[in-house]
Amino acid sequence: MRPVLVFLSALCLLATGSAQQPASFSKEVQKYVRVQAPKVILTHVRIVDGTGHVAVEDQNVVLEGGKISAMQPGADVAASKETAVLALKGYTVMPGIVGMHNHLFYIARPNLDSQHHGEEPLLVPQMTFSAPRLYLANGVTTMRTTGSVETYADLNLRREIDAGHLPGPHIDVTGPYLEGADSYFIQMNQLHNPAEAKQFVDYWADRGVTSFKAYMNIQRAELKAAIDEAHKRNLKVTGHLCAVTYKEAAELGIDDLEHGFFVNTQLDPEKKPDVCSKGEGVPTLKAMAPDSPEAKDLIDTLVKHHVAITSTLPVFESGGIPGRPPLRPAMLDALSPQAREAYLYEREKPVKEETTSSSPADTTNDDWPMLIKRDMELERAFSAAGGLLLAGPDPTGDGGVVPGFGDQREIELLVEAGFTPVEAIKIATWNGALYLGRQDQIGSIAVGKNADLVVIKGDPSTRIRDIENVEVVFKDGVGYDSQKLLESVRGRYGEY
Ligand SMILES: [Zn+2]
Repeated sequence: MRPVLVFLSALCLLATGSAQQPASFSKEVQKYVRVQAPKVILTHVRIVDGTGHVAVEDQNVVLEGGKISAMQPGADVAASKETAVLALKGYTVMPGIVGMHNHLFYIARPNLDSQHHGEEPLLVPQMTFSAPRLYLANGVTTMRTTGSVETYADLNLRREIDAGHLPGPHIDVTGPYLEGADSYFIQMNQLHNPAEAKQFVDYWADRGVTSFKAYMNIQRAELKAAIDEAHKRNLKVTGHLCAVTYKEAAELGIDDLEHGFFVNTQLDPEKKPDVCSKGEGVPTLKAMAPDSPEAKDLIDTLVKHHVAITSTLPVFESGGIPGRPPLRPAMLDALSPQAREAYLYEREKPVKEETTSSSPADTTNDDWPMLIKRDMELERAFSAAGGLLLAGPDPTGDGGVVPGFGDQREIELLVEAGFTPVEAIKIATWNGALYLGRQDQIGSIAVGKNADLVVIKGDPSTRIRDIENVEVVFKDGVGYDSQKLLESVRGRYGEY
């Protein structure tokens, strides 16, 4: 049963919007708009403002022209032709999530069977229909694609969303992966020398991508050339690295490193310069206790070079890892039949015996609870040392991590890591805005900022699981109906 928001809405289009608001919305987008009026007042709501401060009870929040125009002590207000009022006693508003590892694709494993055998090559189909709706429905109002496969589709999607023709969040479109030789992925370009890396960055920056991501097999010379060229154009570079270690990348000037501390290879046995190790970072994580000199030295280096770390905990708890909760029914509902089947195969695969060549070296599923805990400890230590920790789900294959739902799960896992709920929400909102250089517009709830807000039933500042109860998502002052967006993609994620 859906709770009812009491409001009288004047469903008229704004004559003059803010810079972010489209002049009008297509019929397709209007289907999902629940609140739109020249003035919107959220009354008697609890505010979690995204700065890490304690929640403030019983406030009115006023939205006008796509911005937050006032915040006042809670009071009853009458709706009028020009003013929509949402009575939100028992609800919380927080800033829209700034998702920093939010792909617009799915990874398909052709002919996967119940023995977890598939056939090559891995394929990466676009989720241009389902992913943007899943993100927005679940409270993500700004996201970075963190590596693209169909970059033109992502660029055009951003344009269509910003024009009001399609529903979805604001998008930082990351260019195609900067990858070296021997990629897992047949859809990725392979760079051979620094000149190619420079040319690649220029080509995609000219076409409108706003960030870059380096991938596992890129070598130091190409990574350096790409970083230097991107920086010349004021664009940032992140990486899911393997052939290059975290310390090496920090010294080359990278801006961000993906996957917490899971994919640093500096202590992997037989690690050779510029070659991805068999363990892909797992042996280093196993060896790097948070109070060890190696951990301290690494964190010092990252902080000194202002390298952010993106926590992507959901992707590491997906699959058949012991002690992890079952998938949420609403997530299963979003999956296509094929994606659901792949997910169930993954969950059912034998735990103990599974040490195939496709797993990181000599790691069984039984090791993963310890590895997740170790990574959480390192993320906490990095944050405590002044490092900028970002959050994203990394929705990929096997259905264990789904856009939007995964962003919420990431916040829950940050709380499991030891952050307070308001600190975890800050990491997923304010920190992302700061990294993107958009902290004056988004990432927290304050007068003058863009009205990108998530309305949640309950109180995630005391029960973080309440973050799953998203009711309405405001983007630039327009409220989207979470359930309607979810219904529109039921059974689609994994298909298109
Ligand atoms: Zn990823």
